[in-house]
Amino acid sequence: MKKLLATVALALMSQPAFAEDAPRWSLAIHGGAGTLDPKAMTPEKRAAYEADLQRALDAGSKILAEGGAAMDAIKAAIVIMEDSPLFNAGKGAVFTWDGTNELDASIMDGRDRSAGAVAGVKTVKNPILLADTVRTHSEHVFLVGKGAEDFAVSKGFAVTPPEYFATQARREALERLKAERLSALDVDHKFGTVGAVALDQSGNMAAGTSTGGMTGKRWGRVGDAPVIGAGTYADNRACAVSATGWGEYFLRVGVAHEICARLRVQRETLPRQMGIGDPHRSPTPMSHYYQLLAISDQSAADAVMADVASLGGDGGVILVTPEGHAIFSFNTTGMYRGRATSAGVNEVAIFGGEEKASMTPDH
Ligand code: ASP
Repeated sequence: MKKLLATVALALMSQPAFAEDAPRWSLAIHGGAGTLDPKAMTPEKRAAYEADLQRALDAGSKILAEGGAAMDAIKAAIVIMEDSPLFNAGKGAVFTWDGTNELDASIMDGRDRSAGAVAGVKTVKNPILLADTVRTHSEHVFLVGKGAEDFAVSKGFAVTPPEYFATQARREALERLKAERLSALDVDHKFGTVGAVALDQSGNMAAGTSTGGMTGKRWGRVGDAPVIGAGTYADNRACAVSATGWGEYFLRVGVAHEICARLRVQRETLPRQMGIGDPHRSPTPMSHYYQLLAISDQSAADAVMADVASLGGDGGVILVTPEGHAIFSFNTTGMYRGRATSAGVNEVAIFGGEEKASMTPDH
C-alpha cells in the first residue's frame, strides 16, 4: 500500500498524471470576447460564426484524435479563423488609424516553453505560421514590422498584397470611429481576435493567438496578443492559455503567465495538502483530487480575469489543463468559443452560459 501511494505521489509530482490510462486530448478555441447585444445577432450571422468556429474546432480535434501534436492542432484551428473574414485576424483584421491592417500573433510550446511572436506585419497571410517559424527557425522570440516581414521572405513565405486583408465591414468601422470620434471599443467591441489551446495524447500542450489589434490603433500600438505571458502561454506543468480582450489591461496583468503560474503552484502544493502519498494519513481518493483541481483551476482563471476587471479592463481566456479540461473565463457578455475533448465534449458557444456539456471531471 505504501509503495502504491508513493508511486501515485511521484507520478503527481513529476507530471500531472491522468487518472486513467486512456489517451486523452483536449482543445479550446476562441474568436474574441466583447460586448454584444444578443438581439443584434441575426440567426444568419450567428450561423456563419458558429460554422467557422466549428470548422476550426473540427480541424484541430481531428489531429488530436488521430494522435497528432497539440502544436499542429492549434495551428490548424487558428489558420482557419485567420482565413475567415469574420474574425479580427488575418483576412478581416481591423484597420489602423492610417488605414492599414497590421497583424500580431504568438505561439508557445508547453513541452520546452519555446515561443515565437510577430507584431505589426502587413504582408503575411497567416501570421500564426510566421510566429511558429520564428519559434522553430530563429534564435529569437519576438520580431516586429519590416524585420519580421524580411524574415518571412527569407523563410519562403509569400508576400501577400495588403488588399487581401481588407474587408468592407472593418473599413466602415474605422470610418465611423473617425467620423463620430468614437473609441475602438465602440466600433468593434473588441470582438474577433482568435486563439487556440490544446493538450495532445502525449501530454503536451500548446497555445497560440492571432489578431489585427484594435480599430484605429496608432503609433505602432501593440496589444497583448503577440506578447508571451500576456496573450499566450503554455507550460506542460500547468496549462496552455490564449487571451482576448482589451490588450492594455492584459499586458499589465500578464494574464496568460499569471494563470499558468497559479495552476502550476496548485499542482505543486495540493497533493501534499491533501495528504496524497502520506503513509500516515488515510488515502485521499484520487477522484477528489481531480475534482478539487478542476474547481481550483476555474477559480484561478476567474480570479485573474477579476483582476483585469478591477483595473478597468475586460475580455476572456481559454485554457486547457494537463488533466484534459477545457476552461473558459470571461467578463464580457460574450466570447466566440468552442471546445472539444476525447471525453466526447464538442460544442461552440457565443454568449455567457450557453455551454451544454459539463466539464466536471469524469475521473
Ligand atoms: N487583445 C487584442 C488587442 O488588444 C484585441 C482583442 O483581443 O480583441 O490587440
